[in-house]
Amino acid sequence: MHRYLRRCLLLTIAAGLAVPLSLTSSATATTAVSVRTVAHQVRTSTLAAGATQTLRLPSAAHDIAVHWRGAPNARVVVSLGDAAGRFGPAVDAGRDEVGEQRGNGRTYGALLAAHGAVAARVTTDRAVHDLAVLGLADGQRVTRQVSGVAAAVAAVSQPPVLSRAQWGADESLRFDSTGAEIFPPAFYTTKKLIVHHTAGANNDPDPAATIRSIYYYHAVTQGWGDIGYNFLIDETGRIYEGRHSRDYPAGVVPSGDNAAGQGVTGAHTGGWNSGTVGVALLGTLTDRDATAAARDSLTSFLAWEADRNAIDPKATSTFVNPVSGATITTANIAGHRDYASTECPGGVFYASLPALRTAVADRIAGTPGSTPPPPDTTAPTTPNGLTAVGGYRSVALSWAASTDNVAVTGYAVARSTKSATTGFTQVATTTVTTWTNGGLGKGKRYWYRVRATDAAGNVSAWSAVVSGDAA
Ligand SMILES: [Zn+2]
Repeated sequence: MHRYLRRCLLLTIAAGLAVPLSLTSSATATTAVSVRTVAHQVRTSTLAAGATQTLRLPSAAHDIAVHWRGAPNARVVVSLGDAAGRFGPAVDAGRDEVGEQRGNGRTYGALLAAHGAVAARVTTDRAVHDLAVLGLADGQRVTRQVSGVAAAVAAVSQPPVLSRAQWGADESLRFDSTGAEIFPPAFYTTKKLIVHHTAGANNDPDPAATIRSIYYYHAVTQGWGDIGYNFLIDETGRIYEGRHSRDYPAGVVPSGDNAAGQGVTGAHTGGWNSGTVGVALLGTLTDRDATAAARDSLTSFLAWEADRNAIDPKATSTFVNPVSGATITTANIAGHRDYASTECPGGVFYASLPALRTAVADRIAGTPGSTPPPPDTTAPTTPNGLTAVGGYRSVALSWAASTDNVAVTGYAVARSTKSATTGFTQVATTTVTTWTNGGLGKGKRYWYRVRATDAAGNVSAWSAVVSGDAA
């Protein structure tokens, strides 16, 4: 029996969740604010065709979703009401694309931004049974420490990813009442990259809270045991770890892989979840493109995934599902609609996928390792401590070694027979910090200075001038 069938009329569940205060690029401890998420669910046994019913939640909701038994083609509209009894415009209950794959006989509406609503007025064009309104909101906040984000080492570096701990995933939601993991991870080599939109609200002021709601809706209400997407990206370009893959050591950026580098199977594209990575952009991209920040992060993320999995970002290829053996020929970076009959990832954004593939290829080609590093232009430090000691028809020089960001490869010695300021010519090069000038005129004075050269050919300034008298 599915867990949603065991729930009573009014359901209240609190879950420990966290909001990161900062996103860093080093492996450091980060203070996070845990948030207790509260879920209320109100049900009605039957709603007749054309009937309207108002269902009241006991507290204000950040997100609301409506779901019912069967009737997958029912047109259900929802108007959200505030505490003063005012109701907003009726909107289509929509469909949650992950819920559409659930296959458990229920129809799951989209997660709707509720803006503190406490009631939902529901109307249907045909009879539906066991209709439920789910309200989700953050509750009590608790400060705690989580590990920070570290930079990964790869040919194409991994962009920063907010870990599940950092966005506050309550890992207990992945387990049933007996402690068994509901959706145990399975891993396959990543061959295809699939982009989605969540079809939720644009200009979301609290995307982490929205992700917590999506997670709850998928994991608990729909019974998957986890969020369906492998990764999510908000409109400010922050990337979030989605589907759990494993517990990473502190400071390690979540890759969605097992230790062998195979990707975890999510629940984002029906029939094609194994061997693919599903990335969802938050919001609805039907009539507008992704933000520049989201697009940039998506490009970096796909470049990293494509490069490390040897996926040609501009190619189309035939994919064999490693579990079912089914085959499909798609672009290696494709939209959800290339795999199924869906509007996802939104028409305007979908039209930009060719440009996205080119940007991903360019980002892979432009990374260090495939292009030479910029030339070194840092000169060695100026030699100091130069001394000159006169000997029989000779002067012996010594000085302190220079330092440099690359290697100091040698020194040049210049001499003047005229004065401390004019008439210098180079008389020697050496790889050590001493040099003796022989064959000099007895009783004559000579002036010397030295400079250092590095492996890139940069030279230091000349040292201070010293004089020496040949005996
Ligand atoms: Zn999708």
